[in-house]
Amino acid sequence: MEYNHLFSQTMLTRAYAYVDDNHITNLSIKENHIVAQVKGQSLYDVEINHVEKKVTTCQCSCPYENGYCKHAAAVLLYLDEQQLKYMQKQMKST
Ligand SMILES: [Zn+2]
Repeated sequence: MEYNHLFSQTMLTRAYAYVDDNHITNLSIKENHIVAQVKGQSLYDVEINHVEKKVTTCQCSCPYENGYCKHAAAVLLYLDEQQLKYMQKQMKST
């Protein structure tokens, strides 16, 4: 997924901490639409749309104005991590 251009380095660093601490829950993926909840100061709803692996819009219920927040970034990082783990598993089994 392409999204690095949407987030500042600070945001990504914060997002990594969320992934490490398993703050991402209720992840569901429907075609180009990703929905998840992220535990911050409260539980935030994140929605992400993408087209051909490029993120087009991010929405989050946190007070950060534009939706391109650490919660949305955390969901994307989490997805990348899951995909990597899956690929590593596939490689081991062949
Ligand atoms: Zn947020």
